[in-house]
Amino acid sequence: MLTIQQLLQEHFASFRRRHRLSRDMTWAAVCLRDCRTAAMGSHRIYCPHGHQSRLGYNSCRHRCCPQCSKVPRELWLDGWRSRLLNCPHFHVVFTTPHELLPLWRYNRRQFADALFAAASGALMTLLGDEKYLGARPGLLAALHTWSQSLAAHVHLHVLVTAGGYAQNGGKSHWRQAKKSCLLPRKVLMIVFRGRLRAELLAAFQRGELTVPPDTSEARLRGLLNRLGRTTWNVKILERYEHGVGVATYLARYLKGGPISNRRLLKFEREGVCFRCRARREVEAATSTTRLMTADFLWRLLQHVPPRGLRVVRGYGLYAGGQRALLNAARQLLGQVALPAEPPEPPTWQMICEREGGRGWGRCQTCGATLLVFHFPSSGRPPPVASSTNKQPPC
Ligand SMILES: [Zn+2]
Ligand SMILES: [Zn+2]
Repeated sequence: MLTIQQLLQEHFASFRRRHRLSRDMTWAAVCLRDCRTAAMGSHRIYCPHGHQSRLGYNSCRHRCCPQCSKVPRELWLDGWRSRLLNCPHFHVVFTTPHELLPLWRYNRRQFADALFAAASGALMTLLGDEKYLGARPGLLAALHTWSQSLAAHVHLHVLVTAGGYAQNGGKSHWRQAKKSCLLPRKVLMIVFRGRLRAELLAAFQRGELTVPPDTSEARLRGLLNRLGRTTWNVKILERYEHGVGVATYLARYLKGGPISNRRLLKFEREGVCFRCRARREVEAATSTTRLMTADFLWRLLQHVPPRGLRVVRGYGLYAGGQRALLNAARQLLGQVALPAEPPEPPTWQMICEREGGRGWGRCQTCGATLLVFHFPSSGRPPPVASSTNKQPPC
């Protein structure tokens, strides 16, 4: 199978010499290139009763690595599976206009914060309004910055409970959303558009945004004003009977980077050929995209999120620190309360077993859970970035 790792092993050294990469991009590329190779150090997996022992190279554990993302993805999903409310969920997608991409490139962290705040604020305000739902919903929002062809396409997927926790005369109840539609799409679009523009203008006011070199703050303010009169792309997609379906869809993209190895078709002398799904609604419709290798790597690395940026955030009933409210909603929906302490997450051995990887987590002879010993010399210093400049390469 073709892998991103092969591509990086062959081309990253020359790519790095010709491009100015941020520290996050360099770190991601080095992790993906060296994942499960001698450069990452090694460990020994062994049976505690001495039946078997094997050596392995360490995983990089970078969130964009398609090779070692299976276990983190399952852990993420497990955590959310246990928290999701037992009710249908709507899937809403908020896309930012492409005219704002330069601003995003130079202000990824601030732009993401503004986008999360605008989308969640619009949904919470409208759904809290008696005119629409009049209740407190649960929102799970995930940031994606890429399209199928890896071009920049900054959008937010939000999983929204089809109903919410409401109180009436001191009595609490679960208020169902209308079956056909969560909210009028146009109203949601207008409120989201207004909020994102206001968030970005306020960030300018506070001096928190970097102005891209080929424009000025005045022009960006003018652009934001002009965009206030255009139609933005906000979609309320189909209603899912169980939120786990959308959470599984989100998990595929949250860990493992913007493209899986399975989509790679051919490495040619000068380029990379990969599969694209033409439109989400048409599952079978696929096309092939061909990019120059440097262009492919550049596109891939621009989607590495800044270190520490939370690309998934919960709001309303799904917000962190809202366990009491979430438990009250769970009770109304006939679910058991979440424990005060989250249960121990499954081990990698359990996940391997569950996913059919028999023999990976257990001793073939006695069935004991295999243990891991990491060789102390395996740690290595982070790579030196080719640029620590805050600005992205032009
Ligand atoms: Zn890895
Ligand atoms: Zn054994």
